Amino acid sequence: MDGRSVLERCDLLATCTEEPGRITRPFASDAMRHAHQYVEDWMRQAGMTARRDNIGNLHARYEGSGDATLLLGSHLDSVRDAGRYDGPLGVMVAIAAVQRLHDAGKQLPFAVEVLAFADEEGLRFGSTYLGSRAVAGRFDPRDLERTDSRGVAMAEAVQAFGGDPSKIGEDRWSGDRPLGYIEVHIEQGPVLESLGLPVGVVSAIAGQSRFEITFTGEAGHAGTVPMAQRRDALVGASIFVEAVDAVRENPDLVATVGRLSVRPGAANVIPGEVNLSLDVRSPDDETREVECEHLLKLAGEIARRRNLELTVSPVSERPAVGCSPRMIALLLKAIGEGAVEVPSGAGHDGVYMSEITEIGMLFVRCKGGISHNPAESVTAGDVAVAIDVLGRFLQLLAEE
Ligand SMILES: [Zn+2]
Repeated sequence: MDGRSVLERCDLLATCTEEPGRITRPFASDAMRHAHQYVEDWMRQAGMTARRDNIGNLHARYEGSGDATLLLGSHLDSVRDAGRYDGPLGVMVAIAAVQRLHDAGKQLPFAVEVLAFADEEGLRFGSTYLGSRAVAGRFDPRDLERTDSRGVAMAEAVQAFGGDPSKIGEDRWSGDRPLGYIEVHIEQGPVLESLGLPVGVVSAIAGQSRFEITFTGEAGHAGTVPMAQRRDALVGASIFVEAVDAVRENPDLVATVGRLSVRPGAANVIPGEVNLSLDVRSPDDETREVECEHLLKLAGEIARRRNLELTVSPVSERPAVGCSPRMIALLLKAIGEGAVEVPSGAGHDGVYMSEITEIGMLFVRCKGGISHNPAESVTAGDVAVAIDVLGRFLQLLAEE
């Protein structure tokens, strides 16, 4: 198994799609069923026994001599019109590393279990991490009532895919002691490319805060209300957007206004109300909390200055998840000289896996940092490095 054969496998998985000509592989779909046929076959070729759990994750086990299990994994589902590597690459690299053990007739002092998660992106039911939440014992049975765009309930979808929706609680990890969870994933950002490095070790998965913010002024005629008497909500919102962009001064922060709606939204009407989203992320929780407080205070000052009303509703908050120092150290050692740590701005299955074991992540450089896009691209050379690093990691862990 080399980098080239992993890329060929990702090409084959790209043909498992709900939309011809594009990659769209939702949870519990026919496209996923098709992908499982390939993946289960590759798992068995690598000397593993494969099974599917109730939520629809594939578990493949390569037995070892001890009483502990190292978990490797990533997700097989995709966003709409996706690229071919976000998710599947991590599963394929994990299988390739086990294939090498199998080909060499090698057994480790621990078992290796490869998890191919059923859902991380949440495309079909708008509920992310279904696969890893089930394994972490954090699946919420109320989610079974969610319906997809065709009105199919999640419970029906799980059943049609071969699972028992009433037994998803049993998908919780119940095997022997987990030694850790390692995920290989494309970086989805441009840092490794700018450093000229094929792979990097993730330090932490960033925490995230989301808010809904509304500036309210007064709509009026664009021709008759003098400038001095206006309460233009969009002008206030614009000043705020610029303030959000100023977080660029701090390398540990990213902040985004990704959606903005202007009412009434006509060329000849002064904007009376603007509703916008704010997303703030950082690998450091305190940094994120301090910045959120600062930005919301600024929004208040802007509103006062522009004679606007302001409402702020918190939408969600998720703390950062640190990768374990031990896993980071082993991965850095497996890479060798010049290895770097990078934070992950995107969420990953490791967020939930961290609730049952220590986690580590290896990022693979991707072209232009592009993801969630058919233009996602990785090189066979970089993937070969990732397989080698994972192999060395297994060896180092075995020697510990
Ligand atoms: Zn992903």
